[in-house]
Amino acid sequence: MRQVVVFSDLDGTLLDHETFSVRLAVSAVDLLLRRGCPLVPVSSKTASEIRWWMKALFLEGPFVCENGCGLVIPEGYFERIPEGGVREKGEWRVPLGTGIGEVRKKLREAALEAGVRVRGFGDMPSREISLLSGLKVQEELDGAMDREYEEPFVLQEEKDFDRLVPLAEKRGLIITRGGRFCHASGKCDKGRAVGILIALFREKFPDVLTVGVGDSQNDLSMLLAVDRGFLVAKPDGSHDPAIPPDAAARTKGAGPKGFREAIEEIIAIG
Ligand SMILES: [Mg+2]
Repeated sequence: MRQVVVFSDLDGTLLDHETFSVRLAVSAVDLLLRRGCPLVPVSSKTASEIRWWMKALFLEGPFVCENGCGLVIPEGYFERIPEGGVREKGEWRVPLGTGIGEVRKKLREAALEAGVRVRGFGDMPSREISLLSGLKVQEELDGAMDREYEEPFVLQEEKDFDRLVPLAEKRGLIITRGGRFCHASGKCDKGRAVGILIALFREKFPDVLTVGVGDSQNDLSMLLAVDRGFLVAKPDGSHDPAIPPDAAARTKGAGPKGFREAIEEIIAIG
């Protein structure tokens, strides 16, 4: 079997959207690990949050955090370290996006110029973040607040979004709208971060087959960067229309069920 490396989104893909349960994904993860196939989380979550989930899933190795703004590689995992890597506590951290201090400053300036009010994680006490995010456990809350690149924020009024976006973009920020929050970050995407890791994996395994699994628009660049992309279904059985059909095969199952389907297919052809 060819050496397989799997890159996977977490929320809505490996983790169930509502319950965040990993029960369904565990057997597929185990299938990969027993065959010595690395599974690389590629998520909008922070490095702290991803480390927590990796421990729960018995995963080790590199990962991509905050939507591709950061890359973390355990020391000694690859022979070469990507440009800009900084060594910290046994890991190489590779910043690919603008630092959170600069992002917050630019967001404030854009809001001021647009005449709109924004409140970001940096402005909120943890109680308010807990209320808005639904995160109740202190450990989870701490992980979500430990941001390096991307600022989740809320607008006082929904209609302010269109006024804010062009002024933020003028300052080099990207603004996206998520389920509970809007997000501001420098220019980065999952695909670029995954591309850097693929180059490193190729040096390690020259015949590597790269696989990507995701569920929504922010996974598109990752799905385009790999050899085989899979788009898992949403809980209602539909697929994100933002992902063109030729970018990824569609799974029948939603979230972790679809993830398992994708892994079974890859192993069957391998
Ligand atoms: Mg997702």
